[in-house]
Amino acid sequence: MIYPVHTAKLLATVLFVLMAGCATPDITPEHLTKESLKQEQQVQFKQALIYLNQQNKRLADVSRPLLKHSAPDCGTRTRYSAGIFLHRSSEYTKEQKAAAIELYGESSQVQVLSVLDSGPAKGKLFPGDQLLQINAQTIPENSTANAIKLLHAAMSEGDNVELQLIRSNEQLTVTLKPEQICDYAVILSPSDAVNGYADGARIIITSGLIRYLQKDEELAFIIAHELAHNTLDHIPKKLTNGALGAAIDIILTSSGFPSPLLATGIGINLYSQSFETEADLEAVRLMKNAGYRIQGLDKLWQKMARLHPSTITHGQSISHPTTVERSLRLRKKIQQLSN
Ligand SMILES: [Zn+2]
Repeated sequence: MIYPVHTAKLLATVLFVLMAGCATPDITPEHLTKESLKQEQQVQFKQALIYLNQQNKRLADVSRPLLKHSAPDCGTRTRYSAGIFLHRSSEYTKEQKAAAIELYGESSQVQVLSVLDSGPAKGKLFPGDQLLQINAQTIPENSTANAIKLLHAAMSEGDNVELQLIRSNEQLTVTLKPEQICDYAVILSPSDAVNGYADGARIIITSGLIRYLQKDEELAFIIAHELAHNTLDHIPKKLTNGALGAAIDIILTSSGFPSPLLATGIGINLYSQSFETEADLEAVRLMKNAGYRIQGLDKLWQKMARLHPSTITHGQSISHPTTVERSLRLRKKIQQLSN
């Protein structure tokens, strides 16, 4: 039997791979000392911590203008915030602890990990500041969660707070005016899937999505879309409509299809599509309010379609509008808001 040229090439490749599978390696790996393994492990743990911190900070920095300027849309669901991340090096996992101590120093005290670019602590607090007291109340050393609770309680009315802290071995006092933001935690989910979803109380964004959306405006749009699901009460409405599991709205699963949980019936699908369109259009308004550039945002759905072409048509699910419909509707809304 004569195979076409390309088939013959394929067979040769397959045979080569099979043969290669039986061969033994020609090189003997160099012996690695325990010390060199430990050192490299430490370097990699440090890099992983820095990367995680960068992703968390980017997500918070991009979310901040939306959470702040949308406060009137969030009704009673608001709180006051200082715009800082806190941590303690002793709270890291056993594997990460040595790297955390090398990066942030060994301290039982709660420390500032990072300061948001547009929050009230910018220029007043700095990474490494060790917090001692809030409004003359001692910050507990035993847990970051307790320190955050105390900080939230001190800021609950929006009044200035006085922080006693140690910076470069010097004790000082800093006064902060907290700012009001929507009380929906924006959480980083460590997953390679390109997903974002809201559950009525939180907004969850995967690290895969953060990596894929390199422009801050694009990431802001997805956060705004999820925020809109929460502010427009879509989640309870969906639950009332009978969609079991619809508390989680997934834009795209890693397989490229919207969540099958949302596609349980035609009626629900129609409701879901209307909610998705409403969240897209409201997201543009929230972004404009927050001072984000909205021109060209419709290209985001083209970008999503490049990653998951199944969304250009309805594919296997009709819980979400197609990326074609979303792109066109978004373009129209942007034109309206730009006039
Ligand atoms: Zn949605």
